[in-house]
Amino acid sequence: MINISRMLKVKETARDVEKHHNKGADEVPKHLVRYANSKAPMVIWNITRKCNFSCDMCHLGSALEADSDELTTKEALEFIDHMASMKVPLVSVYGGEPLTRGDFFTLAGHAHKKGLRIILSSNVALITEKTAGEIAESGISYVGIDMDGLAQVGGSMDVIAGLKKALPMMDYLRDAMVGCGVRITIGSFNLSQMPSIIKAVENTGLKRFAICQHIEDGDWKAVKEERREILDFLIDYAMKNPEMEVVTENFYADGIYLLQRVAKREPERAAEMERLLAKQGGCPAGDRIVNVDYWGNVHLCPYWQSRTIGNIREQKLSDIWFDEENDILTMMRDKTNYLKGKCGSCRSKHLCMGCGVRAEETCGDPSGEDPACFIKGKH
Ligand code: SF4
Ligand code: SF4
Repeated sequence: MINISRMLKVKETARDVEKHHNKGADEVPKHLVRYANSKAPMVIWNITRKCNFSCDMCHLGSALEADSDELTTKEALEFIDHMASMKVPLVSVYGGEPLTRGDFFTLAGHAHKKGLRIILSSNVALITEKTAGEIAESGISYVGIDMDGLAQVGGSMDVIAGLKKALPMMDYLRDAMVGCGVRITIGSFNLSQMPSIIKAVENTGLKRFAICQHIEDGDWKAVKEERREILDFLIDYAMKNPEMEVVTENFYADGIYLLQRVAKREPERAAEMERLLAKQGGCPAGDRIVNVDYWGNVHLCPYWQSRTIGNIREQKLSDIWFDEENDILTMMRDKTNYLKGKCGSCRSKHLCMGCGVRAEETCGDPSGEDPACFIKGKH
């Protein structure tokens, strides 16, 4: 994730980050948690595949029914205990739709009691006033509202209509003092609507949105052109609207693009941004984040379902994560020395690291070049 607004404002300077660098995740302010000195990863946990929607663009392998072999309540509680003992800095709960799990609040309440920080990703369709209160009581401080479900209208996607439908649920969350922001999918089908979509986000009163690009299979040329258009729009918007927090997902090269734009006019600010990007260290897969699916399989990131590095039913997450003989983990933690092709010769590779999933899908090698890199020229 690249937080364009924070980068532009240089809200946290590299010095602030340094100040917190040797502290544990529980001693660091929330917004700096990604810089904490945590050996344990942030866990992105898909707790069920069950979803109340079946969206065309779902990348989470959701279905209308739960799988019969999903982690049981007992297994999930034990996993929570283990994450707490590992001092996992943050647990991001995904589905399917997490709220379809009947034991959701048992699990969330237990995680809260154990001192884990939890954020929830939800399509919010199941959120009522009562649920919003229970979310707050379970210590969940933030709900990322995934718009894809509510935005499915008559076989196509209408984000503006989806935002309207989500308004009452956003109010319930606000009244319960739970922070929220939206995650919006942009692709060729709605790129031209981006200004009005963002206007509709403003009208909801939200102060944060994340943009996720829909990638059509293998058409990297189109993906890159769209990416530049999306980024130009978002950077201009974030500069003019400092009160809104603008975030992008899945393209760490966004940081390089932003840096190049700022460097032309404000080299000093760009230098500070570069120090911050270096502290973040680009793609966190297998180094600072890990994904656990509803069967307990462990993946390097949520988009990397094709690779499994263990299962928490058979081994403790800590044993999987700290296994020094695991070649892919070794590579992901020292990726600048393994990258090949355009990423291998890129001067900014330590700020970005490319994308292992896209590289592996395209050329069979996770340390190959990222086929979606949209940065032009030498960088
Ligand atoms: S060449 Fe690779 S490492 Fe460099 S900016 Fe592009 S994706 Fe990132
Ligand atoms: S491997 Fe790719 S999809 Fe996964 S976290 Fe890194 S950049 Fe994102």
